[in-house]
Amino acid sequence: MASTWQNWSGKLTASPSALHYLRTEADAAALAAHAASTGQVIRPAGSAHSHYPLLPTSDILVDTGGLSGVVSTNARTKQAVVMAGSNIYALGLPLHRAGLGLANQGDIDRQSIGGAVGTGTHGTGATLGNLSSAVVGATIALASGELVHCDQTHLPDLWRLAQLNLGAVGIVTKLDLQLVDTFKLRQTSWEATIDDLLADVEQHMAEHRHFEFFWYPTTGQCVAKATNVTTDEPQYPMGPEGDRCGWNFEVLPNHRDWPHTEMEYSVPADQGLACLAAIREVLATEFPTMPYPIEYRSVAQDDLWISSATGRSTVTISVHMDVRQDEEACFRRCEEVFATFEGRPHWGKIHYRSGQELAELYPMWRRWWEVRDHYDPEGTFLNEPLSALRP
Ligand SMILES: Cc1cc2nc3c(=O)[nH]c(=O)nc-3n(C[C@H](O)[C@H](O)[C@H](O)COP(=O)(O)OP(=O)(O)OC[C@H]3O[C@@H](n4cnc5c(N)ncnc54)[C@H](O)[C@@H]3O)c2cc1C
Repeated sequence: MASTWQNWSGKLTASPSALHYLRTEADAAALAAHAASTGQVIRPAGSAHSHYPLLPTSDILVDTGGLSGVVSTNARTKQAVVMAGSNIYALGLPLHRAGLGLANQGDIDRQSIGGAVGTGTHGTGATLGNLSSAVVGATIALASGELVHCDQTHLPDLWRLAQLNLGAVGIVTKLDLQLVDTFKLRQTSWEATIDDLLADVEQHMAEHRHFEFFWYPTTGQCVAKATNVTTDEPQYPMGPEGDRCGWNFEVLPNHRDWPHTEMEYSVPADQGLACLAAIREVLATEFPTMPYPIEYRSVAQDDLWISSATGRSTVTISVHMDVRQDEEACFRRCEEVFATFEGRPHWGKIHYRSGQELAELYPMWRRWWEVRDHYDPEGTFLNEPLSALRP
């Protein structure tokens, strides 16, 4: 009998013939081989927080949450091996106890680390890369049934793919992460009108380790948030968002319980304000009652094959919509604007781009597919929406 499944927002649903809960790497390898040998599609799921239909399948959906925990840490290299199904929140304390931490993380920490890496999840900070850029190695259960480790020197093409893999090459069982020394942060926030905030926004982006703002289009008001390293002692209980002092993994993540869907595009950092102005114009003239926030963040340049920050310092602009509303008209119109700024979509959020268009935006998109096809020639790890992205 088919199981029922839905993603975090409830907007995506599926009826997989099997919902499989992994607890061991051996099971992952055997399951991948079973799917391949029986001609079934298999999709590895983390915490199902993606808005793009990366996961739905009528065949096998795998919950990787049982592959959880810190395997090892190395104080000299500041690296750790973690199980890929670990929720990010579950990594904070054990890594901290080993004197280590993620250099940055996203707005929430409910995702699995495997899922966050799988889509290039990021936080904010002009000098800070996304989570995929911290991946220095990976262990993957392939469709062949092999469990292989890859890094910069061993199977380097597979490693490049693993850094941002869309769950399309295998079940990632472990990730080797480059970390930093654990650090404390103090966070402050303030309200301002969009015009007042934009007057100083470049300065804020440059001055603060982490800076972002949410702009509410119908009121013109913004909430800005700055977070910086501190030597101050943590203050418990942890304060509300925007007024906190504590360890990195305590301060950066927030609680988001508003069921929404989202489009996010990355544009070259020096185009961020012009792009925001263009989005502002479209919302004011065509969607004047759209009350949901627009989020503005920055991500450092990297050299990952399909990172939205590859080859360029980046500003990300997110458009949100209540899950009960139809987002398509607004998102498509915003996407037209993002396209004029060479915008690259977030892999885990809504976009309507074709494989050909993605090949123009991501120079290594074709290479990514070549390597993927080499390790999974029968397409065991591809559902229909993923297959449709082939260039
Ligand atoms: C409330 C909310 C807040 C968010 N905040 C941010 C943010 O601040 N910054 C940001 O960049 N994004 C953000 N996102 C997007 C989110 O981080 C990504 O969609 C992320 O991929 C979700 O992680 P997950 O564990 O839920 O992955 P899933 O959605 O379960 O999976 C994502 C992809 O990873 C693959 N995958 C997962 N685990 C494995 C594995 N073990 N092996 C192989 N493939 C795997 C899946 O197949 C899929 O392709 C947010 C989303 C929500 C709903």
